[in-house]
Amino acid sequence: MNFLFLFIDGVGLGENDPSTNPFAGATLPTIQKLLRNHDLTIESAPFVGEIASLLAIDANLNVDGLPQSATGQAVILTGKNIPANIGYHYGPKPNPEVAEFLKKGNMFCALEGMGSQTGLLNAYPPAYFEAIKNGRRLYSAIPLAVNSAGLVFKNDFDLINGQAISADFTGQGWREHLGYSDMPVISPYEAGKRLAQLSIELDFAFFEYWLSDYVGHHQDFTQANQLLITLDQVINGLIDNWNHSEGLILITSDHGNMEDLSTRRHTNNPVPAIIIGELNNRQQFADSLHDLTDIYPAIMRYFRPAHAVK
Ligand SMILES: [Zn+2]
Repeated sequence: MNFLFLFIDGVGLGENDPSTNPFAGATLPTIQKLLRNHDLTIESAPFVGEIASLLAIDANLNVDGLPQSATGQAVILTGKNIPANIGYHYGPKPNPEVAEFLKKGNMFCALEGMGSQTGLLNAYPPAYFEAIKNGRRLYSAIPLAVNSAGLVFKNDFDLINGQAISADFTGQGWREHLGYSDMPVISPYEAGKRLAQLSIELDFAFFEYWLSDYVGHHQDFTQANQLLITLDQVINGLIDNWNHSEGLILITSDHGNMEDLSTRRHTNNPVPAIIIGELNNRQQFADSLHDLTDIYPAIMRYFRPAHAVK
């Protein structure tokens, strides 16, 4: 029983309008295969196909303003409506109030407590840990949760040895921005295959992709299209190498952004939940998903042995 949580920051389900939404009308063969020739827009949800289901889930949670990353991710990781609790959406990185929720308990702690092996597949450079240690950098919500659970982060050695995934999937960013001129660069398809392989070694694997939110803030159609082509190839490598009868993949987000390039801000659109796996598993998982708070309990139910469900 494997579960891969592929987290894509800042992707909502937008209108089917190619003038503002890069998902509308883009040629993305894998996503279109999963959604039986539909685009990843609001018009396509809900959908149940042979390999995948798509739901639209609410990220606003009845709180004024636009959803933000720290609170959105913390909701996903705890199942608690943190924006309602503190009275506002907050981001990009957790303030002390949001951090407190994550430190008290989160998805990684809970699954580890149930005896499941969990891990974050992202690789971080030594400079990242250095900056955290000397206070120049704050953890974002996902690594904060991982750290609170006492899990070990993957590093540059893991990436070189094929035991981790680069934030940009291919490793090119390590060459261009981090000074690793000899970092192996892999194709997006290979990165997807590696996501599958590393997930199979764990019960619950998580990967965080944030470039989608970055591109959304920059309102750059060319970058957005390139990113979607990469993402589509990653998903292709992933599903080609995934054991569909044994495990589930959840691809979801914390808030909208990249699906509406008419604004550089986040959006109030629902976010997609793409669930990939065997039909019964998939539908059982999907049935309870309506907003971001529902993800955590759905994952707990997936891992709890049937006789222990109360
Ligand atoms: Zn953002």
